Amino acid sequence: MFLNIKNLTKKYNNVEAVKNISFSAEEKEIICILGPSGCGKTTILQSIGGFIKIDRGEIILDGKNIEDLEPEDREIATVFQSYGLFPHKTVIENIIYGLKFRKYKKKDAIEEGKRMLEILNLEGYENKKVTELSGGEQQRVALGRALIVKPKLLLLDEPFSNLDTKLRVSMREELLRIRELFNITMLFVTHDQEDAFSIADRIIVMNKGQIEQIDTARNIYLNPKSEFVLNFIGSANIDNGYFIRPEAIRISANGEEATVVGKTFKGFFIEYIIEYKDNRYKMIRLNNEKEYQINDKIYIEMEMREI
Ligand code: ADP
Repeated sequence: MFLNIKNLTKKYNNVEAVKNISFSAEEKEIICILGPSGCGKTTILQSIGGFIKIDRGEIILDGKNIEDLEPEDREIATVFQSYGLFPHKTVIENIIYGLKFRKYKKKDAIEEGKRMLEILNLEGYENKKVTELSGGEQQRVALGRALIVKPKLLLLDEPFSNLDTKLRVSMREELLRIRELFNITMLFVTHDQEDAFSIADRIIVMNKGQIEQIDTARNIYLNPKSEFVLNFIGSANIDNGYFIRPEAIRISANGEEATVVGKTFKGFFIEYIIEYKDNRYKMIRLNNEKEYQINDKIYIEMEMREI
């Protein structure tokens, strides 16, 4: 495996922020770490980046143990939520900053920087101040600055959380394009399920400093390994260790009777609350399907599955 994390543990004042974390990533893989605030996502990223000292564990990148190296010796670049750009510097100065430490001649660095601007569709921006740019443009500059040093691993810490929904969508596409162009492996921290589902090859779901599940989006959604994963990802009806997703409740003439007791128009779908055998369940139907009213009797088939 290209990246191998073994038994990573980090304590703050004797409280374990992350406990015995192990996972690996293949070259070019995009792994998302997903979980609620405080579950340890940033701690994992900062441990790998070398910004905090770990208490225990190994970090192996491309066959080399790097846990004792300084951040600048790890061949890893990080893009932060706040972008971390130099506000008083121009776009090109920000982009080529990392080359300073690599004995580049200024002229060659600028050439390299201009190539990066082209790749990121930022031609003509070189002499602008970063404060003159939109959030999306600033994020592309931050990506350029990270990529110019040709890191083996790119760490992204909630990189899209300051962007509006439309920009988020285009930045996701941008990341997938960058992966192809640079053949780079990425570890992406987010609390946003849609980010994770849109770009991750595999998702690590975390809770309270530990890994709940590592899997593809499809498996995490369809075969959640714990009640935590089930509740954190999407919505579900849960009863005694069994569950059914709201969209999995089917309408069928041969089904059993249930009663509609609640209804909310949600846009492309309608969410119903139905009463079936003294329990209430959430059910969703697309808005172009037959619409029901409160008190309607409906006939349903539902197979609850074990968590
Ligand atoms: P996330 O990124 O998932 O929000 P963090 O990795 O930032 O989670 O935090 C994990 C846990 O470690 C939290 O309980 C947090 O309060 C604690 N923590 C993080 N940084 C520090 C610190 N510098 N000092 C003490 N506790 C910290």
